[in-house]
Amino acid sequence: MDLIQSIPKVDKILAEPDCQQLLTDYPRPVVLAAVRQVLESLRAAAIAGRLDAADLNPAAISAGIERCLAAAEALSLRRVVNGTGVVIHTNLGRSSLAPCLRDQLADIAFGYSTLEYDLETGERGTRYAHVEQLICQLTGAEAALVVNNNAAAVLLVLSAMAAGREVVVSRGELVEIGGAFRIPDVMKQGGALLREVGTTNRTHPRDYRDAITDQTAMLLKVHCSNFAVIGFTAEVTVAELAALGKEFGVPVVVDIGSGNLIDWQGVTGMNEPRVQDYLAAGADLVTFSGDKLLGGPQAGIIAGRAVAVNPLKKHQLLRALRVDKLTLAALEGTLRLYRDERQAWAKIPTLRLLRLTEAELKIKGQRAVRHLRRQLPATVVVELISGVSQVGGGALPLAELPTWLLAVRSSDRSARELEEGLRHQPVPVIGRIARGDYLLDLRTVADSDWAAVVDGLRAVIT
Ligand SMILES: *Cc1c(COP(=O)(O)O)cnc(C)c1O
Repeated sequence: MDLIQSIPKVDKILAEPDCQQLLTDYPRPVVLAAVRQVLESLRAAAIAGRLDAADLNPAAISAGIERCLAAAEALSLRRVVNGTGVVIHTNLGRSSLAPCLRDQLADIAFGYSTLEYDLETGERGTRYAHVEQLICQLTGAEAALVVNNNAAAVLLVLSAMAAGREVVVSRGELVEIGGAFRIPDVMKQGGALLREVGTTNRTHPRDYRDAITDQTAMLLKVHCSNFAVIGFTAEVTVAELAALGKEFGVPVVVDIGSGNLIDWQGVTGMNEPRVQDYLAAGADLVTFSGDKLLGGPQAGIIAGRAVAVNPLKKHQLLRALRVDKLTLAALEGTLRLYRDERQAWAKIPTLRLLRLTEAELKIKGQRAVRHLRRQLPATVVVELISGVSQVGGGALPLAELPTWLLAVRSSDRSARELEEGLRHQPVPVIGRIARGDYLLDLRTVADSDWAAVVDGLRAVIT
């Protein structure tokens, strides 16, 4: 009780020289809030009988205030080290942009631009024109449109083409993508009526044929992005759907999800459909994300026949789903890299990380181990172990990418303490725990991240 009495008052603390300095560094209300927070925790400690006289000396109090201020000043949306090995990690921002786009993005972000200005005529232009030609060139589409994300792309397509009418979808493709995007729900939102056909594991062309009536607005195919049906299965191909669509005069739309433009089979032995293949097979429209396998910014791209795309450009909903200039700049820059596939592999981080081989990752890991051993006290032990990384982002769900992991052990911190401590650093490090070890996957940790890992580990173990 005596100690509670001796907890200083706000004014007294503010008058201390240390605090006076903080008042010149931070806005007064921010310092005041930190002081109150520290006093609150001192009172709570006193009541719990955990307060020590030393906690009340001015230096200890001002150190506490400084910690509060540092925590309050940290940005909410900030950089982290991705040690999970999940390359397209939706919670950690999916794809990182190609570093070579930095200047181009800065020009657009910090200045005026041609966003909706036509330099030829000196009159109003359209923001959608900047990437349309590139998308057409890369995918073979006649026309294209970019919206906020792929969920928005699907919603716009359904609203514009199928409101009040039926959309035929295989029961095996009524999928849920992370973040509560569910095909039946989006369908409802777009005002379309779901006409399910086939079964979970097998759907045949005749199932679609039997379902087509004069109420049918579209045949929709949805890529099973984040799962696989194996065993006794049958799926109707885009070419088969296109033939049916043509026969009955019904448009065929494919939600391909990942936005893949590259032949993975040839590179990694993995199979993932490409946008251009589905368009060539006769799909009228294909929709896909900009920040999954494409490796660009969050965006939804609609590509296909001009007769299907052009009416979407005039739809009311588009105004609510429109992309901003930074997205367009990042997308234009990313797509340009695809004009030469070798450049895409080399410069787009998502592609580069997915293609890293076990041998390359081992070398990277050995370098990291040497570096960490030099930088960290002997109580921290780091070791390389083999493991598996994931693609993430609802793409290539079966792909298992062999990788090397850094197992970090400390004689005085448990794996859980390491995990939690590193997560709370100024540059948070996101790793995982498996079989009692704290693990960082070398695939997704950049060379420039090691300084943050070292700083974080030092802070956690002291
Ligand atoms: C990821 C995905 C979506 C949602 O895309 P967002 O860009 O996250 O909105 C929709 N459909 C499929 C098949 C997907 O894989």
